[in-house]
Amino acid sequence: MHGRDRCVFSARTFGHRSRVREVYKEQNLSYTHAVKPLWDSALPMKTDSAQTERPPIVAVLGHVDHGKSTLLDYIRKTNTVDREAGGITQHVAAYEVEHEREGKLKKITFIDTPGHAAFQAIRARGAMIADIAILVVAADDGVKAQTLEALESIRASGTPFVVAINKMDKPNADLSRTQASLLEHHIYLEKLGGDIPWTAVSAKTGAGVDELLDLILLVAELAEYKADTSENASGFVVEAHRDEKRGIAATLIINNGTLKSGMAVLAGRAIAPVRIMENHLGKTIKEATFSTPVALYGFDELPVVGSEFTSYKNKHDAELNRPAFERTMLNSVAEDTSGKFWLPVIIRSDVTGSLEGIMHELAKVGDEYTGVRVALSGVGTISEADVKASIASTQPAVILGFDVPVDNLARESARQHGVQIETFDIIYKLVERIEELMRERAPKRAVEEKLGRAKILAQFSSRRDAHLVGGTVLDGRIEKGASVKIMRRQEEVGRGKITGLQTNKQAVDRAEEGREFGAQITSDTEVLQGDVLECYFTKEI
Ligand code: GDP
Repeated sequence: MHGRDRCVFSARTFGHRSRVREVYKEQNLSYTHAVKPLWDSALPMKTDSAQTERPPIVAVLGHVDHGKSTLLDYIRKTNTVDREAGGITQHVAAYEVEHEREGKLKKITFIDTPGHAAFQAIRARGAMIADIAILVVAADDGVKAQTLEALESIRASGTPFVVAINKMDKPNADLSRTQASLLEHHIYLEKLGGDIPWTAVSAKTGAGVDELLDLILLVAELAEYKADTSENASGFVVEAHRDEKRGIAATLIINNGTLKSGMAVLAGRAIAPVRIMENHLGKTIKEATFSTPVALYGFDELPVVGSEFTSYKNKHDAELNRPAFERTMLNSVAEDTSGKFWLPVIIRSDVTGSLEGIMHELAKVGDEYTGVRVALSGVGTISEADVKASIASTQPAVILGFDVPVDNLARESARQHGVQIETFDIIYKLVERIEELMRERAPKRAVEEKLGRAKILAQFSSRRDAHLVGGTVLDGRIEKGASVKIMRRQEEVGRGKITGLQTNKQAVDRAEEGREFGAQITSDTEVLQGDVLECYFTKEI
């Protein structure tokens, strides 16, 4: 295939790319949470009523820098990594390859999942949409946090997987150590006491990649993925965005049936006539079947990434099946009865891929007392409607844009109403700004900072609320002026304050772990021999 053709496809289909990857790599940001619940209603059809063998759909997962993109590139026989020069594949792509096994030419579809933290949501979905996952582990690095997170989403989705031990060409590659680190994490490899197929590869030199493709086809053969060309096409939306010139576009992976010119696709409430359809090379096609990825233009709404699509004979039939329910994105920013502080924000992004990435990151901002409430979110220019929505919310929502312009009316109206609009071209900067706003706006609250614990060995005197005691510091330290919880048989029986402290009969400000001390505790509760004092300071945050 042609590098240039592919590039044209990427650029057209997936919009422009941004430069956040390096930043994420530098920061080695980790990611969490699989999104299985979102997906339970949208699992791929692994039908057994159909007649024809269907090529497997494969996703590549693993720790950052372990070589996912390089492997996908090698398999695609081009060199996206170098071409991008540090850019990031922000939008999920997909492509199809052919591989010969036992004299037969077989197809495999790869989901080209993006490579950094913010896209975990999509990546986790990759494992769900895919029939088979490849878990990449670098032979010079072994199993890492994101390897385990990838494994978790693979296992949660029940997707069969193979392990590719990559970077075998590197002088410091250590196959047996990597295998041992896999075994340590309960990834039981074939021939090493387990049944997980694996192979050693170099995504750089291509060594072992043929064996890896063989393994995938073997797994696929055993699983017998079948589908029916005579049915109307159905499958998944892998990416969706607004194309300046050609309207709303989406990349679809067909996993059953056939899609032909003149038909119509329905994804959620979004409908597109099959008129402008391209294959992964950017070539116009009139017909596609499983497991082919296609780019389809002309949706009347932006389809949700990851949603299932179905297709109909014509647009009229699709209309008849369009669900009446219109999902409103405007959540109420109602007062929370639990007293939790919610920071209301409105998010606009260039494409659904980055929007999902942002949402995923925002879900992590806050704690049990604070959180981000997305009052409105969507793809496209920041408009006056966003400003209106901000004003309508109980507390004005800050409008944050990622790689989107702000239209003049919106700017003017925001100025008039004092609504804040800020735009970013790096996701983590946007998230950092939200964290900053949270710190500025959330009401201050008192938190306890633990200092240490002490055991009371003797009670010298006790008068009303003043208790003179002697003890030893068990851990950490205790300080004059600090507060204490008086613990008796692991139960808190009262609170007080250290109003005097001595060690070796000298007045001191603090006593460290292991020191014996004498102290005056001011408290309504008597302090007895055998009690444990938990010492803490209260500070406002
Ligand atoms: P990703 O974050 O998992 O997509 O990792 P990349 O594909 O971007 O690879 C990270 C770095 O490792 C890049 O500099 C690659 O050139 C390098 N790399 C990937 N695979 C190999 C390999 O098999 N051998 C060697 N020597 N380098 C590799």
